[in-house]
Amino acid sequence: MALIVQKYGGSSVADVECMQRVARRILKTKKAGNDVVVVVSAMGDTTDELVELAHKINPDPRERELDMLLASGEQISSAVLAMALHQLGADAVAMSGPQAGIFTDLFHTKAKIVEIRPQRILDQLRKGRIVIVAGFQGLNPEEDIATLGRGGSDTTAVALAAAIKADRCQILKDVEGVYTANPRVVERARKLDEIAYDEMLELASLGSEVLQSRAVEFAKKYSVVLEVVSSFVEKPGTLVREVDHMEDILVRGIAADKNQVKITLSGIPDQPGMAAKLFHELAGASINVDMIIQNVSAQGVTDLSFTVPASELTKTRKTLKAISSHVGDREPDIDADIAKVSIVGVGMRSHSGVAHQMFAALAKHKINIGMISTSEIKISVVIRKEHADDAVRVLHQTFGLDKKSATRPGKKPVKKSGSKKR
Ligand code: ASP
Ligand code: MG
Repeated sequence: MALIVQKYGGSSVADVECMQRVARRILKTKKAGNDVVVVVSAMGDTTDELVELAHKINPDPRERELDMLLASGEQISSAVLAMALHQLGADAVAMSGPQAGIFTDLFHTKAKIVEIRPQRILDQLRKGRIVIVAGFQGLNPEEDIATLGRGGSDTTAVALAAAIKADRCQILKDVEGVYTANPRVVERARKLDEIAYDEMLELASLGSEVLQSRAVEFAKKYSVVLEVVSSFVEKPGTLVREVDHMEDILVRGIAADKNQVKITLSGIPDQPGMAAKLFHELAGASINVDMIIQNVSAQGVTDLSFTVPASELTKTRKTLKAISSHVGDREPDIDADIAKVSIVGVGMRSHSGVAHQMFAALAKHKINIGMISTSEIKISVVIRKEHADDAVRVLHQTFGLDKKSATRPGKKPVKKSGSKKR
């Protein structure tokens, strides 16, 4: 007998039939002698619809109320799923995030979980009940409902698994696991048997929509082994964990993020403290700045480009306007037709030449690179949005991802020296 946390995503509970199927699967797990805590997302596209609704009423809704609205989606799912289980004769109890003892910080719409008091869940488990928790939400220090950012139910599941010391944390999805690239874009994309936390972390924050990055961070921190599996067919999925042979693979996966916007500020005074001021203000508005490039300055002024999620563009504009007198009052140039394409693999830590291979492959296909950024285990480029899918396909082939364990095309390992090699 094991203690299992199962998380079902929105498309797995999209309608009545889906709910019934999920209820049967949960009951099967329970009947096999396990204790089960379930975390659910909002049904289908509910969250998108709620966001749309809010913006129809008010283009810039207050985040406190937005959170109240969005959190209701998951509350509906948890109640309905519990009812489906009751209908099957099972004893299940639904809880909102706050009822489940999930506490967050103050950042509405992207709150972090700071504490879990799982007593109520544990009491219910002891009574033999299945506990269904509404994902994506908790109670903040002001006793208001806060949501955890898009995809946040994953984080609820992982955090709960850590808090109740679950034996397993299964993330059930409408895909069969984590793929080398988006299978809708790359026909020969492969399901991975396993992936390292760090790789998953990069892929998740780079626009692969499989898991929320915060969930992976949490899993890594508390060594929660995640199993990404299909909610439709019962077969092995992808294990997210740490194993030591993982650096054998050079590039594990490719992600494309088409929801970034590039902002260029020109004519910024070239003085100490300018970048500090700018990014302090953006951080203060909790805007997720991603890539940053500053050019060489000329005649006392400089240009600076950075990317932000498209969903934060309104907030970014507002922030820039408020500080325009400091950073030069030229209108920022906004380019929404970009995509960020990234290759990821822990093997890059100890192998060289990856960047060159990536850039050469793109060049061969006449794909121009607008921005580049790297970390120890990833390389990202910003390109035109219309080239994104092609770029992913080209790179998938270049790094041999369509073939199992053949991702080191002609590259020799270099000695590790602690520094980045590319
Ligand atoms: N319903 C929320 C979303 O769509 C949270 C989640 O699904 O995990 O982002
Ligand atoms: Mg959803």
